[in-house]
Amino acid sequence: MPTPSFALAAHPLIQHKLTLLRARETSTGEFRRLMHELGLLLGYEATRDLPLTDTEVETPMERARLPILAGKKLCLVSILRAGNGLVDGMLELVPSARVGHIGLARDHVTLAAIEYYLKLPDDLPERDVILADPMLATGNSAIAAIARLREHRARSIQFVCLVAAPEGVLQVHRAFPDVPILAAALDRGLNEHGYIMPGLGDAGDRLFGTL
Ligand code: URA
Repeated sequence: MPTPSFALAAHPLIQHKLTLLRARETSTGEFRRLMHELGLLLGYEATRDLPLTDTEVETPMERARLPILAGKKLCLVSILRAGNGLVDGMLELVPSARVGHIGLARDHVTLAAIEYYLKLPDDLPERDVILADPMLATGNSAIAAIARLREHRARSIQFVCLVAAPEGVLQVHRAFPDVPILAAALDRGLNEHGYIMPGLGDAGDRLFGTL
């Protein structure tokens, strides 16, 4: 059985921007801008192990063998709707990546994830997926999304979030021990409504100004 992997992105810029994002007084516009920047920075961390190969390049001075990405095909998948905020930032780093969407609504009583939309590229078996959702709370959405990606035979899956709750990390690791999780913060835990504490509130509502 693989050892479950959970990594914290400790970069000071990520930590600083996340604190600003969390603040109640942060406006919708500022929240969106920060989420975008955090998506870019987390995307940078999530892609740090992409394999390189060498290619011949003619510089103005001479011919040289230089490193280039080894043709890894990426697919960014957003768990709607808040995942779009992170994926938009990640796309600045990898503009040619394919993008998939999985719409999952939360049943407010049972906290179960209910799928209402699915659109993924056909060639997922040839792609490494970065699955993005800002909040890993109960783990229900992440598990439902990973199960769908597995069904579509994604080559590999990495889950990226901003804020994780220990409960969610445990559930995802139980269900999919081979899916690494990258987060910017591991918070205290969930409240009785399934919100992360201290968290940042409802990420989708704050991102889209639907509070
Ligand atoms: N989803 C959110 O947007 N926030 C939480 O705290 C938990 C789930």
